[in-house]
Amino acid sequence: MAVKKVIIIGGGPSGLVLAHGLQKNGIPYEVYERDESPTSRDQGLALSLHFAIPYMEKCMSPEHYKNITRACVNPSDADNPTFVVVDGASGKILIKHNNAAPYPTASSTETNKSYRVSRRKLRNFLEDGVEIQWNKRFKEYELTDDGVLVRFEDGSETKGDILVGADGARSRVCDQLCGDKIQKNVLPFVFVAVTIPVNRERYQQIYNISSTHGVVTGPTFGPEGNRAIFFSMLDIDEANDKYEILIVMTWKNSSGEHGLPEDQASRVKLLKEIGALYCDPFKSIILDLKGDEVIWTTTILEKIPSPWNNNGKVTLIGDSAHSMSMARGEEAVNSGKITAIQALGDYEETMIKRSVTAVKASHDAIYDRHTPKSSAQNQSSV
Ligand SMILES: Cc1cc2nc3c(=O)[nH]c(=O)nc-3n(C[C@H](O)[C@H](O)[C@H](O)COP(=O)(O)OP(=O)(O)OC[C@H]3O[C@@H](n4cnc5c(N)ncnc54)[C@H](O)[C@@H]3O)c2cc1C
Repeated sequence: MAVKKVIIIGGGPSGLVLAHGLQKNGIPYEVYERDESPTSRDQGLALSLHFAIPYMEKCMSPEHYKNITRACVNPSDADNPTFVVVDGASGKILIKHNNAAPYPTASSTETNKSYRVSRRKLRNFLEDGVEIQWNKRFKEYELTDDGVLVRFEDGSETKGDILVGADGARSRVCDQLCGDKIQKNVLPFVFVAVTIPVNRERYQQIYNISSTHGVVTGPTFGPEGNRAIFFSMLDIDEANDKYEILIVMTWKNSSGEHGLPEDQASRVKLLKEIGALYCDPFKSIILDLKGDEVIWTTTILEKIPSPWNNNGKVTLIGDSAHSMSMARGEEAVNSGKITAIQALGDYEETMIKRSVTAVKASHDAIYDRHTPKSSAQNQSSV
């Protein structure tokens, strides 16, 4: 039976890539996103695309896909992102990966290519050519004889043949579909992110270390292990002399989920205390925080999927099925060949097998990053 309509909940990277894939294959779809509009929420942060690249390319028309570099954090180095590991005390570069010395890949079917993209620009790129219904927060679904009925919080409803939850790590579709069948672990790490506008000189200092991103290993703090700084270009616009850098600090916090003081002044003070222990330019960038920057924190949620009953009508993609620590992220997107129970079953079998391995690799990577190293031992890449 031909699929008449696929309903996608969530207009993040996974939902939008799937929408492109369905569109390319002539399968009708609707995307529902809780954000009020494309600009109502700062998408923040940046991410690295590696293993998802061939799937994204497959899902898009060549005319669309060729613009992927527009999503890159640093347009002048879009095709040559560099990931480094820097010793935080000496500034020595311990590891460097780029196109000349690519990332080791998990299997021969995976690509060595990577892009470092800003989430905001990635969403712009993926939204292009896809119709999104904004301000629609999914509430629940109900299976019917001929498909699935979806209800939204505003009281509206829609019907389709297949429902795909692409609504992120805290997915309501997943909660209804899987209940406690998906294992969820909050990892004991503090995560603090801050976006910092810098001048050209500072940008150049960072650029000389890496054109896109890297990890600065931190001093050791007894049993809690290393503190680590992750840095990334976020939005570089040389023509307009605008340079935005992302700094993320992480450290193990066995005593609680959040581990940060509530008020802004104490948070800034803590970041500066930690930043002062690093070498320049990282130290100066952090010590020069004005104090009014948005300091963003989140808990790191890991989801380990196990098979669910899709009834041939409901499935999950992306973080809704398998969120993982950001230390070795690899967002997976299926190509959209969803036509029946068998197709969903095949997709889920492959996805679950692959993502259990990926979640485990990311889990190991974040612990590894915070474990003191005696020398330039291998570090996880992001
Ligand atoms: C700090 C950090 C760094 C990361 N770095 C990397 C990296 O380098 N590489 C990598 O591959 N991954 C990385 N990740 C993970 C990556 O961000 C996710 O894998 C990716 O965003 C997943 O995309 P998604 O579309 O599945 O979910 P999301 O990006 O979470 O998108 C879900 C969408 O669903 C919408 N939504 C949620 N609930 C509802 C609802 N009830 N109704 C309607 N809409 C809803 C949300 O508004 C959102 O737009 C990182 C994550 C973090 C936190």
